[in-house]
Amino acid sequence: MANLTDLQKQVSEYDKKYGWDKDKASHIALHMSEELGEISRRILRFDGYKIEKFDKKELAEELTDLLYLTLKLANKFDIDLKGEWNSMWDRYEKKTSRK
Ligand SMILES: [Mg+2]
Repeated sequence: MANLTDLQKQVSEYDKKYGWDKDKASHIALHMSEELGEISRRILRFDGYKIEKFDKKELAEELTDLLYLTLKLANKFDIDLKGEWNSMWDRYEKKTSRK
């Protein structure tokens, strides 16, 4: 099973192969907003606010698009998401255990 480090490496290799590692950080962030909009549209369908039929597979694909861009942006800034995830999780656990 791939971990975050593996996924970041996979994205890095893929982006370098096609020259997409040169994408500007601001463009990546804009694409992330676009993907979040696509996710929101699926959720609005799920909640019945939009009349189009909800499709779980479409939601899964949009979430994965956003994950790809998150990994890509992290690579752009040389951020180790696995390490950050572990730090964040420790903070969450401490915060939650105080309640
Ligand atoms: Mg998408």
